[in-house]
Amino acid sequence: MPDLSRIELRQGDITRLSVDAIVNAANSSLLGGGGVDGAIHRAAGPELLAECRTLGGCPAGEARITRGYRLPARYVIHTVGPVYSDGQSGEPELLRSCYVNSLTLAVEQGVRTIAFPAISCGVYGYPMQDAARIALGTTAGFLATSPSIEKVIFVQFGHEAQQVYERLLKDMRSGI
Ligand code: ADP
Repeated sequence: MPDLSRIELRQGDITRLSVDAIVNAANSSLLGGGGVDGAIHRAAGPELLAECRTLGGCPAGEARITRGYRLPARYVIHTVGPVYSDGQSGEPELLRSCYVNSLTLAVEQGVRTIAFPAISCGVYGYPMQDAARIALGTTAGFLATSPSIEKVIFVQFGHEAQQVYERLLKDMRSGI
């Protein structure tokens, strides 16, 4: 049974959260970019980029972990979402892998609280509704067999995105 009980939603800036790990919607170079990636690098300081340089990039669907440096979060988990084209080119599977691989790394590092942005929903163009369904469904499935994670927070930058997540979670909680 998928477990929605440890999922929370929040609107705001993910870089401000005091959780064990925040997830970065990175690009495959892991060398920084715009959107949430840029915000995370700015808030963490140049040491984050220095550690990222040692990692040699990351393919779409996979994840890598670094320290959080000047962030309140202890770790940053960098995952590379798919660039959306038509939804029939492996994007759903890749997006699912981002959540599973990020959560797997979190469990391996003893992370108990973790926050995700809406991976691929900015520059990469994934439709928010479809992406949110994958994010919530995949995470709820993962949590069903992962008791060590206490809380997963989905952080939305904007009010509309927040409403999409809220509606979906409500429907999932009432079994729709
Ligand atoms: P991608 O390249 O994977 O599409 P983006 O960074 O362009 O990644 O966007 C991913 C999502 O993160 C978007 O919904 C965007 O609104 C959101 N976002 C941007 N900055 C922040 C932030 N500081 N905190 C939380 N979410 C953010």
